[in-house]
Amino acid sequence: MKKIALFPGSFDPFTKGHEDIVLRGLKLFDEIIIAIGYNSAKSDRYFKIDFMKERIESTFKHLPQISVQTYSKLTAEFARENQAKFLLRGLRNTTDFEYENTIAQVNKHLHSELESIFLITSPPYASISSSIIREVHRYGGDVSAMLPYSL
Ligand code: ADP
Repeated sequence: MKKIALFPGSFDPFTKGHEDIVLRGLKLFDEIIIAIGYNSAKSDRYFKIDFMKERIESTFKHLPQISVQTYSKLTAEFARENQAKFLLRGLRNTTDFEYENTIAQVNKHLHSELESIFLITSPPYASISSSIIREVHRYGGDVSAMLPYSL
């Protein structure tokens, strides 16, 4: 049976840190679905969801094992619908850990067969965050070095 992982996130925007997690995840999984969610706590996006979907697809166009979808429902439910038995997530620091730990416990409660798998960020990407990129971009700064595609 194919090992399918869902990599869920807001990806507002998708960064080189995210790209690194996906590429390393390919060593563990046969397929990875990058799932751009509408997070209720972050309802106002900076980058439009369709634009980001297209940019991520262009980043991985040479890798057929990677697909991109958008969703607006429970992540555990979306994983079940896509036969994904794994949730892939990235960890940069203890703040990420606290947040991810809570989400993973809830997802396990909602879907007992779903395993959350965490990859520690690679050092060059540890300081990259979507929120910092939004701030820099908002005030006209150059964010191209932090993104795997051009805006
Ligand atoms: P969410 O809104 O669900 O936190 P994000 O788009 O911010 O979604 O992040 C998706 C996942 O990628 C999370 O697990 C987050 O910790 C991880 N992540 C974000 N930035 C990095 C990075 N620079 N290196 C590794 N993982 C990262």
